[in-house]
Amino acid sequence: LLAATVGFAALSLAACSNSRSSSSSTDPKSITVGISMPDKALQRWPSAAKDLKKDLVKKGYKLDIQYANSSTSTQSQQVQNMANKGEKYIVIAAQDGTTLGPAVAAAKKNGATVIAYDRLIMNTPDVDYYATYNLQGVGKLQAQSIVEKLGLDKGAKGPFNIELLGGSATDNNAPQFFKGAMSVLDPYFKSGALVSQSKKGMNDNFQQVAIDWTQKAAQNEMQTRLTSFYNGGKKLDAVLAPNDAQAFGVISALKAAGVDPTKVVITGQDCETQNVPLIVKGEQYMSVYKSDVKLADAVSQIISDVNNKKTPKTDSNSNNGKKDVPTLQLTPQTITKDNVKSELVDTGYISAKDAGLN
Ligand code: BGC
Repeated sequence: LLAATVGFAALSLAACSNSRSSSSSTDPKSITVGISMPDKALQRWPSAAKDLKKDLVKKGYKLDIQYANSSTSTQSQQVQNMANKGEKYIVIAAQDGTTLGPAVAAAKKNGATVIAYDRLIMNTPDVDYYATYNLQGVGKLQAQSIVEKLGLDKGAKGPFNIELLGGSATDNNAPQFFKGAMSVLDPYFKSGALVSQSKKGMNDNFQQVAIDWTQKAAQNEMQTRLTSFYNGGKKLDAVLAPNDAQAFGVISALKAAGVDPTKVVITGQDCETQNVPLIVKGEQYMSVYKSDVKLADAVSQIISDVNNKKTPKTDSNSNNGKKDVPTLQLTPQTITKDNVKSELVDTGYISAKDAGLN
């Protein structure tokens, strides 16, 4: 498998060096790196752009950073413009990975190396590398936290009421997060220790739980489920919320309905600044940390390697429907109130004050 991975990486490196003109300079000072991020609404995208910029400017590259304002057509247009300007490396966190084919085709045609950031670009041969955090691993960490906190791993029989939320249907990461979570939760649904009163998402049906990656959408959904299924005094024990924006919405819905969120095991992802104090207060049980500093480092290393005609280090392949894309997967990490200080504050990610620690 490793040999196959390395083989693929070498092949696609050869392909992309061939497509560049032989006179192209490898001096970073003459190279612009295009960075296309989906939106500024979620803290992690601007923060990723900032980290990439820091790394790449240090190496001498010029940067062209664009945000797509959550619009697929805006993002396609922005990538197309980067292609037209002949930018040599284009890093894209896709708004919708299925809509970028023509734009990345233009980028490749003009000699760019295309790198998918966090989210894979689908159904196109024109993506060279993919750097992300292990996607199913994120869902597994969320589900394991629920299992441990409810004592299911120690034989607690419940039945415990859980509600499942998925991420956005336009983000191909979202079903992967859900798949990872369900691989851990399924046995407990089967044994009857976990029950979902709304029945949504049970039997691994991602489509039933797909909800936009926004606080508002999750809040509305949770409000509806609380009214429909938990009004008669049934206790809600856990909510699988796939990211922090949704966790925030869930917590708001619980509070509005008079339910104490510290009594419900609620998951999240991203360690957003507005969520960390909720974790410290116990209102959100956990979040999954995917340091953008590390992911940005990995991507700038890929750029340096390609620019120095070296094969970048990858550890797997991700099939995007058209190609096995050489992939580097970093390891996500569970954050609960017990390690906020050591993992988020002491590392400089957030101040003790913003974390709600003093
Ligand atoms: C990212 C998450 C993020 C979500 C919403 C996903 O693709 O992996 O970190 O919370 O999108 O933007």
